[in-house]
Amino acid sequence: MYVGRFAPSPTGPLHFGSLVAAVASYCEAKANQGLWLVRMEDVDKPREMKGAADEILHTLLAFGFEWSGEVVYQSQRTSLYQQAFDQLQNNGFIYACSCSRKEIADSATNGIEGLVYPGTCRSGMLQPRAQHAWRVKVTDEIVSFNDAIQGYQVQQLSRDIGDFVLKRADGLFAYQLAVVVDDALQHITHIVRGADLLNSTPRQIYLQQLLGFNQPLYTHIPLAVNNQGEKLSKQNLALPINKQHAPQLIFDALVFLGQNPPLAIKQSSLPEVWQWAIQNWQNSKISHQQSINI
Ligand code: GLU
Repeated sequence: MYVGRFAPSPTGPLHFGSLVAAVASYCEAKANQGLWLVRMEDVDKPREMKGAADEILHTLLAFGFEWSGEVVYQSQRTSLYQQAFDQLQNNGFIYACSCSRKEIADSATNGIEGLVYPGTCRSGMLQPRAQHAWRVKVTDEIVSFNDAIQGYQVQQLSRDIGDFVLKRADGLFAYQLAVVVDDALQHITHIVRGADLLNSTPRQIYLQQLLGFNQPLYTHIPLAVNNQGEKLSKQNLALPINKQHAPQLIFDALVFLGQNPPLAIKQSSLPEVWQWAIQNWQNSKISHQQSINI
């Protein structure tokens, strides 16, 4: 059984970049007679934009997406993340870290996504502070996986990433833990998402291994970027997508995904658009680039 998902963060309204991820995960799931779930990734409350979660769901409905079951909200699942956290802690994989940004910057090396935490607090907090983060210990072992589009991926977490944060100093669970717990508890078999998360995947696989979860299959699609090579986002004023132009925008997303939709799709009804998209879906036609300028 194929179970896919779309997991938007409600930091702003849906824009073209997130529509592309929704279309790709939806067509993949439906073309495989699978389920498609929607999960609202509102674990990072300070980054949430008020009203964005509802706005995203209304937009998905207006575009004719049909999801299975209830929408899951990460903000309501803290106890599940805590259980996973406790399991890791009981097995000795987690430690408290009170290092400030500056302390880390002074002693860290560069990894593939910023600084590699040098493990300063591994055997006890250097400067005990009441408010502190919690990190998971990583190892020198190579983590690898085969991405359906981006191919074979390899990371050595100790060299490339370092011990990473699972619970922040403000008490919130980190995305990396929440996403792994949710994907496992929702029995997600296939993850289709933007290539900006390619580098996060080995961290997620590592956590799946520590927690004894199954590893889903990964498909990282090219990211829609602007002229400056930046991911479309609220911060760089990506325009929200207009519900009145749904067939046209789904057409554009299918073009972005290499599907060569016929021009007539732009004037078709939404059921016709989706029928064409699902019947003709071929993920082998998606570009292997990590980003595409739109
Ligand atoms: N919530 C993440 C985002 O909107 C996606 C997470 C995922 O698909 O794993 O970028």
